This record gives sequence, C-alpha cells and structure tokens, in this order.
Amino acid sequence: MEDSAWIDELEQVGALLRGHFQLTTGRHSDTFFLLARLTERPWVMARWAKELARQVILLGPVSAVVGPAMGGVIPAYAVAQEMRGVRALFAEKEDDGTMAFRRGFALEPGEPVAVVEDVVTTGSSVAKVISAVEAAGAVVSAVAALVNRTREGALGAVPLVSVVRVAAPSWPADACPLCAGDMPLVRPKDAREPG
Ligand SMILES: [Zn+2]
Repeated sequence: MEDSAWIDELEQVGALLRGHFQLTTGRHSDTFFLLARLTERPWVMARWAKELARQVILLGPVSAVVGPAMGGVIPAYAVAQEMRGVRALFAEKEDDGTMAFRRGFALEPGEPVAVVEDVVTTGSSVAKVISAVEAAGAVVSAVAALVNRTREGALGAVPLVSVVRVAAPSWPADACPLCAGDMPLVRPKDAREPG
C-alpha cells in the first residue's frame, strides 16, 4: 500500500486525530496518534504487523521482539507472530524512570532483538528499552514503529523502520500557533467514558 493508504486507514479507525493536542513530551501539535484504536482491531492490525515484520527481517534475523509497556506490548506481540519462533517480551517503567524486564522475561547474551513501538516521536522510551536489552547482554538490531513521526531514519546506530512516516509539526507550549488561535487543547490519551 502507498503511505497515503496506510494514513487513510489510521484516520478511518480513529488512530490519527487532527486538532490541537498536548503530546506526552508537553509539546503541542495539530496531529495526534492514538494507536490503541488500531490495535483494537486485530484484523486490521495484522496487516500492519506483517508489513513491519517484513521490514525487520530485511535487516537480519531476530529471535525476540521487545516492546515498551503499554504502547509497544500489542505491536511487539503482533510482529513476533508474523515471524517463525520469535519470542515477544515487554519492558516496564521503573520508579526511577528507566525500563526493565519483569515477569521472568530474560534475553540470551548476544541474542539479536528488535524493539517494536507503536509511535516513535522523540525516541526516548525506545532508548530506555534499548538500554534494558543491552543490560541483559542482548543486541538490538532494529527499531520498528507502526508510525514514525521523527525526522530521523535511525536512533543512534540502530536502524529505524516504520509502516508510515508522518512529518507532523510540534511546538513548545509557549510558541504554539494553535494556542494563539484559542483552539481548545486536548489530551486524547486521558479521555474517559463518562462514569
Ligand atoms: Zn497549543
């Protein structure tokens, strides 16, 4: 599929919103990705996972896929499912802000690993997962994201692949043109159903 067809699909399922949003980094943007609305539909997500798995395999074999909780858990599982005999693990945030493996998850020394995330913006949570993988003695050979909204094609020395790359602008809160226009600011991840 063309990039625009993948983007249309995100909009159709409600995973790509247009408006005035506060990102988790605190910056403001006119574009927000809510990839839970994509993973909510396994029959749609399966095609995204297949495309991401194809790109990861092109970079070399991996024996495990690791996602950061929460956003990376389902994408990592779905991508691993598209490969033969590849494990799916997730790392969780510690009180000190780092990421670590719990629940008995372990990696072998030298084991090739792909880190899978739903959307990469600054790459800060991916960097924490890479640290956790390296602390376990394993090697990150690829980072794979459903959506790449950075301008970079790599995170440090690690190649970054994605299903779609979207150049979405973001601004510091005190320099946001949408704030200047008095458009209401929304934080979609916090949205709850009444009651
Ligand atoms: Zn704003």
